[in-house]
Amino acid sequence: MSMMETLGRVRAPDARLPFARPPSPRRHHPLPMPPLDWNEDVAKATAHLYERVKTVVPSIEWPFFAPYIVAINALKKQRNAVILAHNYQTPEIYNCVADYVGDSLQLAREATKVDADVIVQCGVHFMAETSKILNPGKTVLIPDLRAGCSLAASITGEDVRVLRERYPGVPVVAYVNTSAEVKAEVDICCTSSNALQVVESLGSDTVIFLPDQYLAKYVASQTKVKIIAWKGACEVHERFTGDELRLYRDSDPSLAIIAHPECPPDVLAEADFTGSTAHMIDWVRAHKPKRIVMVTECSMADNVQAELPDVEFVRPCNLCPHMKRITLPKILDSLVHMREEVVIDPAIAEKARRSVERMVHLKS
Ligand code: SF4
Repeated sequence: MSMMETLGRVRAPDARLPFARPPSPRRHHPLPMPPLDWNEDVAKATAHLYERVKTVVPSIEWPFFAPYIVAINALKKQRNAVILAHNYQTPEIYNCVADYVGDSLQLAREATKVDADVIVQCGVHFMAETSKILNPGKTVLIPDLRAGCSLAASITGEDVRVLRERYPGVPVVAYVNTSAEVKAEVDICCTSSNALQVVESLGSDTVIFLPDQYLAKYVASQTKVKIIAWKGACEVHERFTGDELRLYRDSDPSLAIIAHPECPPDVLAEADFTGSTAHMIDWVRAHKPKRIVMVTECSMADNVQAELPDVEFVRPCNLCPHMKRITLPKILDSLVHMREEVVIDPAIAEKARRSVERMVHLKS
């Protein structure tokens, strides 16, 4: 039986910055804006890329995307840059300009292995921060600084310090969907793939787990460790309901349903499999079901569909408004002007790195 307690904000957030302000971004020289015409040369140069996405990108949209794709791929070479794209990015980004794709941690780890000066993070702000934390020597850009996350926004470093005062000696685990400032205050980070392993690795009968209350519930259902959870939620995954999935299942009993653990428990109860975005993709590759509902952000189904055209994806389409702020024109602008650079106070980055690296070095 699971043991769990859920907390919200226990004290108004401290308006003062807990650490010094981050240093200003460096100045970079802009490059000329490349031409963005649709012509025969562009059509020829991108034909192989359109092949990859033709099942999910209508042909009428390609003349708009293709000139940006050519320009971005050329500018990456000029800037010695790589593009990291999260599984929730749109197919033309994920399949046509990204160098590495995956979940946030896979991306940041990949970035540590590449010989690039610049990382363009096509995802949300906490992911760009994680890339910077693990790659402090590289310039990390995010094409739209407003690409946030409801989970990361639900908790501050001050909240964590208050929790520690309230539960002295209880270890604190933070999901990677948190700001650098929060990562700097916790003992260890986790992802949705390794949350249970991280919680059990601490050897404590009680653990504070933040900020996702649903992931915390999922972990609590699988362990004897008592979980003290934070009341945060992903605004995309919490919109799914068990009723909605039962309707799909009733209309086609052979339908496969797989869900992300950020979903509420009544949704997970309807799923044939629960796992992180990376594990969900592996499940579809391994099982190749005839029809499937992937209960997660909508673009992921498009990206897996492009790879597995024989699988039919039934789409209850919940889009993440923050992920969708990243577009081809903004990526191009980012590479031309080298903006927006992600800058973290070195003292925060150092402490946050310890929490992330402690997770990375955990033996599986
Ligand atoms: S899908 Fe949810 S968890 Fe992911 S970035 Fe969007 S709001 Fe955050």
